[in-house]
Amino acid sequence: AADPEKKTGSVQVPIYQTSTYVQSDFGEHTGYEYSRTQNPTRETLEEALADLESPTEPAHGIAFASGMAAITAITQLLESGCHILATSDLYGGTGRLFDQVLAKFGVNTTYSELKLNDLESDAQENTKMLWIESPTNPLLNIHDIKKLTAFGHERGWIVVVDNTFASPTLQRPLELGADIVVHSTTKYIAGHSDLIGGCAITREPLLAEQLKFLQNTLGAIPSPLDCFLTLRGIRTLPLRMERHCDNAEFLVERLAQHSSITKLLYPGLSSHNLHDIATTQMSRYGGMISLELKGGENAARKFGKNLKLFATAESLGGVESLINHPWSMTHAATPEHRRLEYGITPGLVRLSIGIEDAEDLWADIENALETLNI
Ligand SMILES: *Cc1c(COP(=O)(O)O)cnc(C)c1O
Repeated sequence: AADPEKKTGSVQVPIYQTSTYVQSDFGEHTGYEYSRTQNPTRETLEEALADLESPTEPAHGIAFASGMAAITAITQLLESGCHILATSDLYGGTGRLFDQVLAKFGVNTTYSELKLNDLESDAQENTKMLWIESPTNPLLNIHDIKKLTAFGHERGWIVVVDNTFASPTLQRPLELGADIVVHSTTKYIAGHSDLIGGCAITREPLLAEQLKFLQNTLGAIPSPLDCFLTLRGIRTLPLRMERHCDNAEFLVERLAQHSSITKLLYPGLSSHNLHDIATTQMSRYGGMISLELKGGENAARKFGKNLKLFATAESLGGVESLINHPWSMTHAATPEHRRLEYGITPGLVRLSIGIEDAEDLWADIENALETLNI
């Protein structure tokens, strides 16, 4: 729990809705000058985020206005001429930033399945950053964070893990050696589909200092209200994650036996090709399920329409269940040949399992599948 606020004892940190702070003399301030640079509500959130990702060792959280703002700031640690090695089926917006913005400034990216045997040939002399997502979006591939980090560190790379899909409740990459963890706090951390936010967390003081500088310099800071709401979400994060996982496991067990499903992706399935690594680095397997249906894209579209409890929407990690069609929605910005190469097919749907009653969710899915008549 955070310390109570000093003046009144308010249990919750106030929303310091201010742009600036009075100075007692020119240059004499309380440590707070201007709200882009320092804000107490944001600081409380940043401490909470650091605690979540690194409960046993000191760490620094740096909050941003969105996951993409956090990702952008992290890439600004690089210089023109640097190279990024990134997981191939990463979040569509991250690939768009790498390809359509960073490339203009001479920072190029190679996409790789990050198989340990192929890494040497995927790397370049100027590689400076390894970008990992695990589980990946939307294919729920798993990458061995510990081994990849060791490989990157031998070469002096900065290793970044986008931990959005797992949440710090289920997976803590800093404990596996990663240098920086990034989150879209929009998703599980805030958890209520009511704000956009992001953060970076690191244990390394030098990286923290550089990221703080970039936060202030690039300016994509979260509002005090959004920081307050994110803190509010964090209070129930472990409870929510338990339920997301319970529900996902309940549904996967049933989906695995359903004859309309041709492909079922969930790291908790023993048939998942990297299930063992998932078990080593995650405490549970999360609330995201991707699948393909008999009948391909048409069936997928009908399935989405037939569902009553799953709203069709981008995003994930909120208390209510959502269905997303990566081909036309979240991953539409990924070039078509890359989507097909990785297995993001027109028939793939991604489910974000909420915290509703599991039986209700299954009844909804079963009914939507039956109505397909396939
Ligand atoms: C949503 C998401 C992002 C981007 O975050 P925003 O808050 O939408 O800017 C980055 N990575 C992953 C894995 C995401 O799901």
